[in-house]
Amino acid sequence: MNWRDYVRPVEPYTPGEQPKDADVIKLNTNENPYGPSARVQSCVQDFDLLRKYPDPAATDLVDALAEFHGVDPAQVFVGVGSDDVLGMAFLTFFNSDRPVLFPDITYSFYPVWAELYKIPFKTKPLTEDFRILPEDYSEENGGVIFPNPNAPTARLLELSVVEEIVQANRDSVVIVDEAYIDFAPEGSSALSLVDRYDNLLVVRTFSKSRSMAGLRIGYAIGQKELIDAMQAVKYSYNSYTMNRPSILYGCASVADDDYFRKTISMIIATRERFAKALEEMDFTVIPSAANFVFASHRTIPAREIFEKAKEKKIFFRYFNLPRIDNFLRITIGTDAEMDTVIKFLSDLT
Ligand SMILES: *Cc1c(COP(=O)(O)O)cnc(C)c1O
Repeated sequence: MNWRDYVRPVEPYTPGEQPKDADVIKLNTNENPYGPSARVQSCVQDFDLLRKYPDPAATDLVDALAEFHGVDPAQVFVGVGSDDVLGMAFLTFFNSDRPVLFPDITYSFYPVWAELYKIPFKTKPLTEDFRILPEDYSEENGGVIFPNPNAPTARLLELSVVEEIVQANRDSVVIVDEAYIDFAPEGSSALSLVDRYDNLLVVRTFSKSRSMAGLRIGYAIGQKELIDAMQAVKYSYNSYTMNRPSILYGCASVADDDYFRKTISMIIATRERFAKALEEMDFTVIPSAANFVFASHRTIPAREIFEKAKEKKIFFRYFNLPRIDNFLRITIGTDAEMDTVIKFLSDLT
């Protein structure tokens, strides 16, 4: 026996490629093409800020988010991207012998955290057209998690169905990962249910709609008891998860609601135009409520399109996985970028 026999066995999550080349059209990791609010840029210069430890509670950011969402600061947990928040939530709430339930086609980090923390889990197949069936989530479980809109399908689950799932699981925690909800129609978010359900945790990120993937800011909202439980786990692991620039820039972003709304509506408009163009080129497009589309061509294999695009320095995301290996996930970039993509695809089809 030696130490190698006791290394924790893990199969890590594989993030999308980050090409070094600057002149690519990068539509493979759902980043936002418009950049953060100019208010963020105006507070970038303060170097002395780096000398001291940050506020471990990230109070300024928690308060800004609480005000933005109309909840109590005690209902907000912040972390280093929603990956950190989700990982912390797995560690905090998914601690039973019963399996955690999530869809078979979903954010591929969920099974990785489950394996890492030795949490039993069971996947529930989406329908043929990638819908979540609420009745799949009514059996005994140690927790439920799904993204809404789902990733990588972009499909939205109606709020009434989300509520049905939360309602059917009063004895376990249901996590709704709303990484893309800002691109969905108004009234789709489960945040409106938080006051009524003590078992609901809603997770959000600054990476997509706020265009701050490089900064790593995510948060969760739920009733105080849930947030207190997550804080206890966080303070048992690393008190200073949020660095000073993240707290400062995060607050600046939240303060600029006009810019936030403007860029989101630009992306939604481009998405609708792009989806229509794809359909005209013989693609099947799953209705998208996110900043990306999930599409499959009727005759040309997805892998072939993916590889040919890459030769032209256009990056899409391709998953060589059962059921979705003939689909491409394409992030919505600027109008100019999408025009280049449409031109490339129409030459191909
Ligand atoms: C992008 C994404 C995340 C992670 O976002 P970060 O805040 O950048 O860590 C979480 N869940 C889903 C479904 C995502 O697509």
